[in-house]
Amino acid sequence: LSDRLQGTIQKIKGKGKVNEQDVKEMTREVRLALLEADVNFKVVKDFIKKIRERAVGQEVMESLTPGQQVIKIVKEELSELMGGDESRIAVAKKPPTVIMMVGLQGAGKTTTAGKLANLLRKSYNRKPMLAAADVYRPAAIDQLETIGKQLDFPVYSEGTDADPVDIARQAVEEAKEQNHDYLIIDTAGRLHIDGELMGELGRVKEAVNPDEIFLVVDAMTGQDAVNVAESFDEQLDISGVLLTKLDGDTRGGAALSIKAVTGKPIKFVGMGEKLDALEVFHPERMASRILGMGDMLSLIEKAETQVDEKQAKELEAKMRNASFTFDDFLEQMAQVKNMGPLDEIIEMIPGASKMKGLKNASFDDKQIVHVEAIIQSMTKKERNDPSVMNASRKKRIAKGSGTSVSEVNRLLKQFNEMKKMMKQFSNQKGKKGKGMNFP
Ligand code: GDP
Ligand code: MG
Repeated sequence: LSDRLQGTIQKIKGKGKVNEQDVKEMTREVRLALLEADVNFKVVKDFIKKIRERAVGQEVMESLTPGQQVIKIVKEELSELMGGDESRIAVAKKPPTVIMMVGLQGAGKTTTAGKLANLLRKSYNRKPMLAAADVYRPAAIDQLETIGKQLDFPVYSEGTDADPVDIARQAVEEAKEQNHDYLIIDTAGRLHIDGELMGELGRVKEAVNPDEIFLVVDAMTGQDAVNVAESFDEQLDISGVLLTKLDGDTRGGAALSIKAVTGKPIKFVGMGEKLDALEVFHPERMASRILGMGDMLSLIEKAETQVDEKQAKELEAKMRNASFTFDDFLEQMAQVKNMGPLDEIIEMIPGASKMKGLKNASFDDKQIVHVEAIIQSMTKKERNDPSVMNASRKKRIAKGSGTSVSEVNRLLKQFNEMKKMMKQFSNQKGKKGKGMNFP
């Protein structure tokens, strides 16, 4: 939540009862938070109207925690708006199921085609094939072939001289012959919506009658993404949206607007450049993200897939009670390193997005080596209780680790900030009781 929104909640919480004026004030802050997160203003307007209607009702007025109640309503409505159980992919009666990837240049079509094939194999036990129908740049075909090689998927291509419509048609035949149950067709993009491209995509669609047309949209483009989605949907009647680059520092409000404007569900989200960074879309988590609440669920889930479950639970428990020492820090670091870039993980911790110092602090993977060396140069006592640290200890540690006193200082500062943040998190937990979605 934005600081202001949190302030307003705090104010309302202090009151025994809320009146209409309070709710108004509060929804105004919600409105600003949504606009800040790049949600389309028309969408926001309708949305706020709905929230006000619900919030002025008994549900909130009679609640002991009206501030939280309003936020709960906001989250519920946001999730609702983004759709429920939508991350399903069609299955054709007669294989192959044909998926056509469309979108602007640079949105992530080619990468996401590979990620999707990977996911289909890993999670659904399917046997996909890829087809290169972006014939305008040789590099585009190479890129898909490289991805195919990397993941061990066949890539159908006819080079740059062929017609995309023929390629698509032939690819379907080829997939049939080789018993592939899915065919993912990568198509060309343009920098802007363009009639010629739409015509071509329309012809490919007509030729192969795809079971899914997935529009790939870059979440970082904010409001533009909404216009793009609207035009593609008008011209091609897309079946779903794949939102990429959510690992960037966008709140992802475009997700909400896209669903509201086109009525088409968001199916998967891209969370990084790596070919396994495609996740099922969870409306509830997206709602938290849009409101800036962090996403503890994703964090825990991520931890659970990478670390074994017991360790993940320990990590969670330590985060909750903030009894975190340098030893834990060191131990976790090894595991956390497998979870992906640190700042990506920090981003998911509630409250962390607010702590600018922490975010900008050098949780840079390259410096982890130094950090490890520094911690290893500390005595047991220093690791458990950094408050004993003085100038001569720091000097010794710096020398022992081959770093400098200022690096040692920086790590101490980061560590303290992290602890502070965890404490903040555990206080929040205490206040709100069970569940981990609300502030
Ligand atoms: P296309 O032109 O639509 O085919 O886009 P590409 O698949 O070539 O992707 C363009 C760039 O975006 C590449 O550098 C990709 O690595 C990058 N990219 C794609 N998806 C994601 C994502 O989810 N996160 C991040 N960080 N980068 C992505
Ligand atoms: Mg491409």
